[in-house]
Amino acid sequence: MKSSIEAVLEYLVVKALVGRSDILNALQDYFIHNKSPSVIAARYGLSKHQVRGYVQRVVEKAGSIAKARVIVRRSSPYVMRIRPVVKHTSYGMVRCLVCGDEMPALVAEDHVRKYHQGLVEEYVATVIQLLKREIRAARAAKGVDTKA
Ligand SMILES: [Zn+2]
Repeated sequence: MKSSIEAVLEYLVVKALVGRSDILNALQDYFIHNKSPSVIAARYGLSKHQVRGYVQRVVEKAGSIAKARVIVRRSSPYVMRIRPVVKHTSYGMVRCLVCGDEMPALVAEDHVRKYHQGLVEEYVATVIQLLKREIRAARAAKGVDTKA
């Protein structure tokens, strides 16, 4: 069974891989900067309903709002560095840079989940490693502080 952190990261990684930085930014605005769904919606050209939907998905996967906030805040710098694997071609269509298939942008997420799950898992594992390293570094820094 997947951990809540893995589930949230998988969700965020897939959004990054299909180039939906607007959704990632919207989630950061909500969880990190405490913006309201209506403000966020206007900013990224989404509907309030969509913003609430993305937030809800992350909260469900995390298990609580507090946990969602921590995961989004900690992982965002790493998730935002992931390069998209789809490229927009003609109107509403994208090409997958991994396998070369062309498809409607609407099904790009399903495509990545279905055919490039290994890539998604690799990115999730990498982000988890980086987060662990960050936690270890923070603990080490604290240790230095108490000794000083
Ligand atoms: Zn592909």
